[in-house]
Amino acid sequence: MYKTKILLFLLLFISSSLSFALPRHNPVPGGLALLAIPEQSASTAQSTPRAYYKKNRLAIISENNQHYALVGIPLKTKSGEQHISVQWDNGKKLSLPFTVKDKTYKAQYLTIKNKRKVNPSKEDLDRIEKERKRKNRAKTRWTDQSVNNDFIIPVDGRVSSIFGLRRFFNQQPRRPHAGLDIAAPEGTPIKAVESGTVIEAGDFFFSGNMVYIDHGQGLISLYAHMNSIGVKIGDRIKRGQQIGTVGQTGRVTGPHLHLAVFANQTMIDPVFLLPDLHLTENTEY
Ligand SMILES: [Zn+2]
Repeated sequence: MYKTKILLFLLLFISSSLSFALPRHNPVPGGLALLAIPEQSASTAQSTPRAYYKKNRLAIISENNQHYALVGIPLKTKSGEQHISVQWDNGKKLSLPFTVKDKTYKAQYLTIKNKRKVNPSKEDLDRIEKERKRKNRAKTRWTDQSVNNDFIIPVDGRVSSIFGLRRFFNQQPRRPHAGLDIAAPEGTPIKAVESGTVIEAGDFFFSGNMVYIDHGQGLISLYAHMNSIGVKIGDRIKRGQQIGTVGQTGRVTGPHLHLAVFANQTMIDPVFLLPDLHLTENTEY
């Protein structure tokens, strides 16, 4: 009995000390690198540096007086050494290397009944182009605020498709799967993964009803194929707040939430920000 109490205490202690979870360092294509930034001198110790990867500004997370740069790594990145550049207000600069490891993504073949969603008409293409501009505005958003990166799982459901699969729709190659799919019945509540501001919301050709939430410094979550949207642009959202319901709008094979995450304008695997997500063997992760 006594031992059980100690164990319980230890577990509580460990879980509470981990409640501010840093994202998982996983430097693979489609993953993220979490790089500790060394202080250059006493004069730089007080100021938060700026960091860039391929000209895109990076989010800086600070914990226990240590600054970390969060680097989203594009899916098309080859394995090998990469660099970020760091700069301080006093003009000091630093190039910080990291190594991208290999990762192979499997192919996935899907059949879409609505053929227009695979081969859009001329009219559809005009709409898609307008939507591409809106999506681009959303993903390039930068907000100077501390980053909200303590993500929760947004839907109670089953992981039905993982990030990075090389996709074929009706036998035709299309872009790789840039998000995580969680299947759940239509109408299941969708919760915001973290606190933030709604920066885009609407009906899109491929993504259906979609919402973007800005969590600060370029960390952005996106929710697609929703049945209903319960928020509007400009709304401030708390972590866990319902923002809509699961649906099957856009290019889908059934009801699910497509969750995508941007860091430095790059789509990364949401799994690395979801420590509580346990993938079963069947998901072949
Ligand atoms: Zn998806």
